[in-house]
Amino acid sequence: MDTKPNVSFEDTEVAFRYKSNAAMSKANFIFSVVNHPWISAFATGCVRLALKLRLPVEGIIRRTVFDHFCGGESIETTAKVTNQLGHFGVKSILDYSVEGEKTEEGFDGAMEEIIRTIEKARTSGNIPFSVFKVTGLASTDLLEKVQSKKPLDGIEQTAFNKVRFRVDRICGKAHELNIPVLIDAEESWIQDPIDALAYEMIGKYNKERAIVFNTYQLYRTASLKNLKDAFHNASMHNYFLGAKLVRGAYMEKERHRAEELGYESPIYPDKDSTDEAFNQALIFCMDNKQRISVMCGSHNDYSNYFLTVLMEKHSMKNEDSRVWFAQLYGMSDNISFSLAKAGYHVAKYLPYGPVRSVMPYLLRRAEENTSVAGQSSRELMMIRQEIKRRKNHNSR
Ligand SMILES: Cc1cc2nc3c(=O)[nH]c(=O)nc-3n(C[C@H](O)[C@H](O)[C@H](O)COP(=O)(O)OP(=O)(O)OC[C@H]3O[C@@H](n4cnc5c(N)ncnc54)[C@H](O)[C@@H]3O)c2cc1C
Repeated sequence: MDTKPNVSFEDTEVAFRYKSNAAMSKANFIFSVVNHPWISAFATGCVRLALKLRLPVEGIIRRTVFDHFCGGESIETTAKVTNQLGHFGVKSILDYSVEGEKTEEGFDGAMEEIIRTIEKARTSGNIPFSVFKVTGLASTDLLEKVQSKKPLDGIEQTAFNKVRFRVDRICGKAHELNIPVLIDAEESWIQDPIDALAYEMIGKYNKERAIVFNTYQLYRTASLKNLKDAFHNASMHNYFLGAKLVRGAYMEKERHRAEELGYESPIYPDKDSTDEAFNQALIFCMDNKQRISVMCGSHNDYSNYFLTVLMEKHSMKNEDSRVWFAQLYGMSDNISFSLAKAGYHVAKYLPYGPVRSVMPYLLRRAEENTSVAGQSSRELMMIRQEIKRRKNHNSR
């Protein structure tokens, strides 16, 4: 691509301008720990054990990783962060991150909570989307059985009808209040029923605009074709497609299961192929922007640059509402804040929930941010650069 991007992700003053010096020191501490794989493994092991033994570690977790990666323990308490981000043009997506719910009452409770996030979004200028995971509303075993196409017994059929009802209530509320809703993508062995539910909702609620967004994991070899098929269906039946593009979060788990059960891995064999599929998906969405609204969910500098360049190539304004960029709260502020400063639509997934219940989410963030698995060294480098810049600035 020969057009020069009109945004830079290198300015740490822009990236961290919402963070106090104390918050910067905390970020420095967290990323220094996770940057060392063995210290990170030791720390996460200790936390797991402490939680199992019910030791009182919540306070220290709340003041460290929870504060860094989460917005609060309830919808109300996220307001401080959503306002802080909103002040700089970075919007929030309230992500109810309680995992491991297994009862019908728990699934109903999660549905009610997600509906509350949509209602909150309606009255806040800083929350443009809502989001949910189908596994928050359904048992994984049930989704796996539906995908296997084995016949469901009466109880299972009733349970699955309730799952559809919950998804429909959430998407119906999103449509009624005009707040787009993102449906997260999950493991490949439960993704077929998630896709089927998402497309049913898209067909029902996206007649005037993209309200329901399905997620495409471009590390899966099938995803680019799935995206194109979804677009063709949308064109044929005259509705809009909402597409959240991500690379995919479960690579090791996917490969491990495929090897164990002896089927071909659904994941590309190397990162370059995933990156190429991601680029192609962005190109496809931009080429069909008359019908597709896209969210680029990525911490990859190039992917975000590339989308800005595609927008420019298509003569789209930075603030075109069909294109959104999104990162996770506590990561890649250099991308989010630089894009927002340049006038693009940007949002942060903002997880919230009781400390103990969001621990699986926090442990995943710690693991994916080790210097082996992820990008902690880049985060750390930028955090330290900004701390140094502030020191130099103050000593002048
Ligand atoms: C706003 C937002 C929403 C998200 N929602 C979802 C979701 O609904 N479902 C979901 O699964 N994930 C989701 N993710 C996580 C996402 O899929 C990635 O795991 C994460 O963002 C890292 O990818 P990247 O594009 O940011 O960066 P990069 O660091 O460029 O890419 C890392 C990713 O590339 C892929 N990859 C790495 N090595 C290889 C290899 N050897 N072969 C093939 N592929 C490889 C993997 O997907 C890995 O996660 C979301 C992320 C964000 C920011």
